[in-house]
Amino acid sequence: MKYSKFFGKTKHNPPCDADSKNAQLLTQAGFVDKLAAGIYNLLPLGHRVFTKICGIIREEMNAVGGQEILMPALHPIDLWETTGRSRTMDDILYRTRASGDKEFVFGPSHEETVTPLAAGCIQSYKDLPMSVYQIQTKFRDEPRAKSGLLRGREFGMKDMYSFHVSEEDLDEYYEKAIQAYFNVFERCGLKAYLIEASGGPFSDKFSHEFSVETPAGEDTIIICESCGGAQNLEIAEGKVLDPDEPEEKELPMEKVDVERGFSVEENAKAHDVDPYKILKTVVYEVEDAGLIGVVIRGDLNVSEVKLENYLGKQIRPASPELLKKAGLVQGFISPVNLPDSVKISFIADHSIKNVKNFVTGANAPARDFKNVNLGRDFTIEDFVDLVEVGTGFKCSKCDEPLREIKGIEVGNIFKLGTRYSDAFNLKFTDNDGKSKSVVMGCYGIGTTRLVGSIVEALADEKGMVWPLSVAPYHVHLVHLGKDDDVKEKAEQLYQELTSAGFEILYDDRDESAGVKLNDADLIGIPLRLVVSRKTLENDGVEWKKRTEEDSGIVKFSNLKKELESFIAG
Ligand code: ATP
Ligand code: MG
Repeated sequence: MKYSKFFGKTKHNPPCDADSKNAQLLTQAGFVDKLAAGIYNLLPLGHRVFTKICGIIREEMNAVGGQEILMPALHPIDLWETTGRSRTMDDILYRTRASGDKEFVFGPSHEETVTPLAAGCIQSYKDLPMSVYQIQTKFRDEPRAKSGLLRGREFGMKDMYSFHVSEEDLDEYYEKAIQAYFNVFERCGLKAYLIEASGGPFSDKFSHEFSVETPAGEDTIIICESCGGAQNLEIAEGKVLDPDEPEEKELPMEKVDVERGFSVEENAKAHDVDPYKILKTVVYEVEDAGLIGVVIRGDLNVSEVKLENYLGKQIRPASPELLKKAGLVQGFISPVNLPDSVKISFIADHSIKNVKNFVTGANAPARDFKNVNLGRDFTIEDFVDLVEVGTGFKCSKCDEPLREIKGIEVGNIFKLGTRYSDAFNLKFTDNDGKSKSVVMGCYGIGTTRLVGSIVEALADEKGMVWPLSVAPYHVHLVHLGKDDDVKEKAEQLYQELTSAGFEILYDDRDESAGVKLNDADLIGIPLRLVVSRKTLENDGVEWKKRTEEDSGIVKFSNLKKELESFIAG
């Protein structure tokens, strides 16, 4: 394709409203164009990347037996009423009316259409397992559409649904789908981490997310480079290292006067001790169950999701008023010597077990206890893992250091069980003649989000960097200078290479070398070939990979062979 005729060329400046790297680079380079918040046009370059990503996904879904279909985007509202999601997902549903006053929703997902559809196609155990997928547009009225293609209101998704005779059969397929997902992301040039859903009393425990590391990511993930484990920050488990201190004897407990602020740092400073020596108590109000104090080492934080999971109830930090009403003195709360009149229970994180001579509050203004020891000065009935794990902790599986990263969710898979099949009476006759509910799984990949995620993960300071597998073109051919013989040679190369099946974007404009080379870097095609007076003198082209600084001359006579091996990888 000749760039002079291209629909959607590079812009001089990035858009002023771009809130993310992908929005900025994709718009400036002419891959996308914003229509409204969270709603984008895909221009030829962006569409080519998108199509290639979809091609990879298609191959991998077909390889696990997925059959491609295309379901409608408009869904009669009664399907959504059947599952109750017209209510639970009301805030993100786009609703519309058709003639005759029928209400429809623009599909934010397709369980409500695929399940009744499958009910007409699946009768017997002989039909199962079966899986179908589509690559389609979804509509969600996201409260905050942001970060370019990462969170849109109209966006692309591949959604696959699988149907099984039993949980076991679903489990087996689910593992295959996980591998297929890893293949997709790897082929798109991304390293994805598989993360178990955060669980908690209100979420689905049978789901996994695939996340890609990028500073623009909304999620915080704890990873172990060594064993490849990845966990959601909120529930991550890890080994808490004991502080490196000489064996201490238990010293006599003392009550002391102190002038200090409420924070652990201020507390440690006032007593001239390390923060881990502070016995910290964080008080929460538990839904229908009063106050609970979580006792933890001063240098560590409480994971509220772990606490909610443990209690099976919702919690929130206790307000200063509530603390006061309960007879607790904010900033000086501890489980030590509390009068019985104070109605609070305590649990503790394991981290407090191996420290001697803590400093902690005496539940009176400006009064602390020193040399507080577990067992001798206070007791705790329940020890639970309640610590928020981060960088500096060790992997509980392989003992290697854990690292905290920002990630963006590119895929999400669920074991749905019979929730939707029961709602839509999707049953099959088993080999024992009994009618049973079909067991379902669902598997989503954000196709447009993937375009944005590749930019976020791989771009450098000069622009985008596309892996060959999804690059809009293989080669960015440029001629420099106004000499006719240079232009003629470039034109000839363009014709020859294109006819030979190579995907060439040919910058045939009469622009300066600076403009053309900067544009090439911004657009990020993996290989740049330059024809100039100098290269003609050397009977070849300048060959430069987008990911490398160095360039070299490849003779015209060798060019096709070199290109073939470049594309073969
Ligand atoms: P998120 O947690 O990011 O809101 P989700 O859990 O609601 O996503 P799913 O319903 O599981 O997402 O959708 C499957 C995939 O679709 C997600 O993994 C993500 O890649 C993509 N996706 C979801 N919402 C959006 C959006 N608003 N814009 C672009 N892609 C999206
Ligand atoms: Mg999700």
